[in-house]
Amino acid sequence: MSQVISATAEQEPTFTTFKVRVLLVDDQLLVVEAVRRMLADQLDIEFHFVTDPMQALDCALRLQPTIILQDLVMPNVDGFDLIRQYRDNPKLLHVPVIVLSAKEEPKMKAHGFAVGANDYLVKLPDRLELLARVRYHSGAYISRLQRDEAFHFLRESQKNLADANIELQKLAALDSLTGIANRRRFDETLHQEWQRGQRQRRPLSLLMCDIDCFKLYNDTFGHLAGDLCLKKAAAVLTACLKRPADVAARYGGEEFAIILPDTDAAGARKVAEHCLQQLHAMAMEHPHSPHQVVTMSIGMATFVPGPETQERDMVESADRALYVAKNDGRHRAVSFEDIGPA
Ligand code: GH3
Ligand code: MG
Ligand code: MG
Repeated sequence: MSQVISATAEQEPTFTTFKVRVLLVDDQLLVVEAVRRMLADQLDIEFHFVTDPMQALDCALRLQPTIILQDLVMPNVDGFDLIRQYRDNPKLLHVPVIVLSAKEEPKMKAHGFAVGANDYLVKLPDRLELLARVRYHSGAYISRLQRDEAFHFLRESQKNLADANIELQKLAALDSLTGIANRRRFDETLHQEWQRGQRQRRPLSLLMCDIDCFKLYNDTFGHLAGDLCLKKAAAVLTACLKRPADVAARYGGEEFAIILPDTDAAGARKVAEHCLQQLHAMAMEHPHSPHQVVTMSIGMATFVPGPETQERDMVESADRALYVAKNDGRHRAVSFEDIGPA
């Protein structure tokens, strides 16, 4: 009864094995002895008794019996009152109670059932009948405990599964190298923000950021150093974003994208210049780059989303601006609005 269910991801749950546990509450030792004998050779039944009715409730709470055999007439305490007390206690509420009465009296029987007894036997009952009823009521109660335990386990499992799913969803949206949003999350966010911008008729800005001469960086310092450089660049970009709705994502390779909702071209330029300056200030050595340290180029596009344009147009515009920034000498931000048509 005291064993607690436990389960881990690798382990099957272990459920409690419940045993029939009888608590007899009767002030007469003679009755106690008689019942004890009736149950004595039953290996699956534990027998306990209490003769002081004042101790009955405490004893029942401590023992957690699967059945209570309850005498009615006892000194100081009425058996009916005791049954009421069991029923008022959440830990004993469902424990079956068989009244052991001195007489077959319909009124007492009715009263016993009214206060919460489950069965009624006249003392001393026939041994076989007592055994059958003890087993029947205990069995029903044990089934209830097992069902509760299974429900509890199910609820725990469902909760663990839900938590794991939330974790998985988070992981599925993150780039494994840099820890920032990945391409998938970028696509989803851009789509959402595009629709929001359309509804609210507010400008949306996109920055496409590409590390300058990164192939040469890898060639000089190796791929692992290149990975570390990408992590640092991602951290710099993230730190440059001030509004909760701004999102920096790894677009692919050494290219990052920043979505700036509700931001006009002037605002986008401020963020872009800040990113350029902060990455430069990291002073990551890059001897083969024109600026001697790791830098990036940024292409910017600002759109007020409308029915005649699409997200794709904004990505293409920012890409074109990025291409111009590269051609103009790198380590700079160029806006799509500043360049002529293709
Ligand atoms: P540009 O200034 O024109 O952007 O030149 P670039 O060398 O940065 O551009 P290019 O597209 O020629 O090369 C990109 C390099 O980025 C090549 C590729 O090996 C490297 N790269 C892409 N993804 C990763 C990565 O996850 N880790 C590392 N270490 N390198 C990467
Ligand atoms: Mg590059
Ligand atoms: Mg590139």
